[in-house]
Amino acid sequence: MNSRTIAELVFHLGRMASGDRLVEKLTTAQWAVLRYFALANRFSRTPSAFAAFHATTRGTASQTIKSLEKKGYLTRIRSDSDRRSIQLVLTEKARDILANDPFESLVRAADSLPQNMQGHFANALQRMLGDVAGERGKLTFGSCTSCQHLEGDGCNRDEQTTYACGFASEPLLLEELDEICFNFVLGKPLQ
Ligand code: SF4
Repeated sequence: MNSRTIAELVFHLGRMASGDRLVEKLTTAQWAVLRYFALANRFSRTPSAFAAFHATTRGTASQTIKSLEKKGYLTRIRSDSDRRSIQLVLTEKARDILANDPFESLVRAADSLPQNMQGHFANALQRMLGDVAGERGKLTFGSCTSCQHLEGDGCNRDEQTTYACGFASEPLLLEELDEICFNFVLGKPLQ
């Protein structure tokens, strides 16, 4: 298969799963916001992080976020670690609607791939994403499991998981390792 066909297939997959106005008349942009805040880690739940992730302007991101706050899908809370900063979090209503997200068909298709293929595919997509973002001067996003800033060996000592973020100087919970992060820098994948 040639490179152009691969690129077309990746683009087509994304377009098919965008879910434009299929449920509750949510637009592609509104779905993108809900999915982002469902996956973003605690360092990345801000309008500017979403704007960078979605490669859009802060103004456009803010408008979409405000429309979702008005509809009761997003709410603002103060960050636990830094009381001055605000995080956006999904409401119960948003979590309910995400269960009907048209994007789930793409998740199921990924889930049906053999385990070893999932790993290769994820690494290949992460690399393509890094190349495209690099060409455009955009930030790449990813999760702790392949980030240069991940520290620790994950061994469980005294009920404590020993992973930490070297960038934020904060311990990380096991369940946070797969969340997407604004401060991600591609490194060696966790074995
Ligand atoms: S290890 Fe990397 S991806 Fe994880 S929180 Fe730190 S900067 Fe973000």
